[in-house]
Amino acid sequence: MLHKNIKQTILKNKVPIIIIICILFNILIILNYITKINNPKQTFKQINPKVAFSQKINYYKPNKIKAKDINPSVVSAKTIYLTFDDGPSALTESILNILKEENIPATFFLTSRQIDKYSRLVKRMQEENHTVALHTSTHNYSYIYSQDENYFNDLNQIRNQIYNITGHKSRIVRLPGGSSNTISRKYNLGIVTRITNKLTENDYYYFDWNVDSNDASGQQTKESIYNNVVHKIHNGTNIVLMHDLIDKRTTVEALPAIIKFAKENGYTFAKITKNTPQIHHHINN
Ligand SMILES: [Zn+2]
Repeated sequence: MLHKNIKQTILKNKVPIIIIICILFNILIILNYITKINNPKQTFKQINPKVAFSQKINYYKPNKIKAKDINPSVVSAKTIYLTFDDGPSALTESILNILKEENIPATFFLTSRQIDKYSRLVKRMQEENHTVALHTSTHNYSYIYSQDENYFNDLNQIRNQIYNITGHKSRIVRLPGGSSNTISRKYNLGIVTRITNKLTENDYYYFDWNVDSNDASGQQTKESIYNNVVHKIHNGTNIVLMHDLIDKRTTVEALPAIIKFAKENGYTFAKITKNTPQIHHHINN
C-alpha cells in the first residue's frame, strides 16, 4: 500500500520534474556564457595572434591624408615666403621662369646695382604678382650704416627707382645683413636700433628670415641648399633667405626640388605684404 502510494506520487510529479530539469539545464548554459564573458584570458586566447598583431599595426599607422581632408586653416599655417636678395641679376629671369612654371609668388629685395640693365625683369616681377621690395640702393655697409641719414637716402633711392619701373612705392624692407648683423656697429653704434625704430614709426615693414638656405656662404651645392631649406621649414611662417646673384646658380638649380618638396608636404607659398607676420632677429648693435 505504502509502495503504491509512492509510485503514484512519483507519476503525479513526473511532468514538474522534467520542467525543473529543463530549467536547471538552461541555467547551466547561461552560467557558462557569463563565465566566458567575464574571463578575459579566455577571450584573448580566442583571437588569432596574427590578426591581433595586424590590428595593432593599423591602429598606430597614421592615415594617409588627402588634400581635401586638410583643414584650410592648417594649410595656411604652413606658409613659405621665398625671398631673393640682391637682385636683379643675370639669374633673375631663370628664377621668374621657375616661379611662373610652378605658379607661386615670391619676394625680391632689390638693389640698384643692375636695376637699369634688368628693368624689364623688375617690371615682370610686378606683373607676375611678386612683391618688389627694398634692400637699399648701394648695399654698401660702410656707407649705409655710418649715418642714419645715409641709410634712408639709400633706401629712398632704390624706392624711387622701383617706383619709376613699376609705378608702385614699396614699404617692404630688408636690411643688408639682416637686422641682427654685427657689421653696423663698426661704423655707428646703435644705428640698427634707430633705423628699425624709424622704419616702424614711418609705416615701413622690415623682414628678416627664419629659414636660411645658406647660399650666401661660399659655393654651396644645389643638394646642400635643398637640404638646408627642407630640413628647416616647419609649421607656421617660413621666411626663406636666398640670393639672386650671378654666382648663385646652384640656388636656382635647387629651387624646383624645394618647391616640389614643399607642395608635396602641404605647404603653400605666399609673397610678403605688410600683413605677413614680421620675422625679426635680435638686434646686435
Ligand atoms: Zn643683401
